[in-house]
Amino acid sequence: MDAVVATYPSQHRSPAISEDARRVRDALVERGLETPLIDNGLSRDEKFERISAAFTDITRTLGLNLADDSLCDTPDRIAKMYVDEIFAGLDYSKFPKVAVIDNKMQVEEMVLIDDIDLVSTCEHHFVTIDGSARVAYIPGSRIIGLSKINRIVRFFAQRPQVQERLTQQVLVALQTLLETEDVAITINATHYCVKSRGVMDSNSTTRTTALGGAFKNDASTRAEFLR
Ligand SMILES: [Zn+2]
Repeated sequence: MDAVVATYPSQHRSPAISEDARRVRDALVERGLETPLIDNGLSRDEKFERISAAFTDITRTLGLNLADDSLCDTPDRIAKMYVDEIFAGLDYSKFPKVAVIDNKMQVEEMVLIDDIDLVSTCEHHFVTIDGSARVAYIPGSRIIGLSKINRIVRFFAQRPQVQERLTQQVLVALQTLLETEDVAITINATHYCVKSRGVMDSNSTTRTTALGGAFKNDASTRAEFLR
């Protein structure tokens, strides 16, 4: 923990965000696709403390005994998981470093990445959305390392989400970074709020698709992606 404190002194509350992250955020705000966020001015450590205190209250309210060995660290564990893991994508200082490079090899064919693991959290119930994503783009002047696409998907998945917005956010982020409209994404996921409660439908999945440029306008390109 000392290293973290040394890196971000208390007067430096929000670590700087990269130019890429800023461009992506601005593009989402402009299109009305940004997650509803407020800047509450809280540091990472202050968020951790407050969430831990709130979960202490929740567990006690449920009638659980926090003196029990198995439960005593649960509020801290959940606070750490929220701030540093499953909701880390709310913090643009954690936006992945994306090495976008000029398309010197003149790649013109569709680049498609399938079966990208996707774990997110439903913002209506705060339970898991578990699925996979397929992403494609047609290189214009820029290309991107394939693992970076996975990381961008993960960044936006690590937020409280609705699947439709998540799909659009990844589309716009990639369009912005790659400087092309020719991007497509489809997400297929199981919502545990449907599976574990409510209608208890354990087999249904939800598919969402967002298409840009040639994927939207050209039937054969779209068919090749959706195939
Ligand atoms: Zn839900």
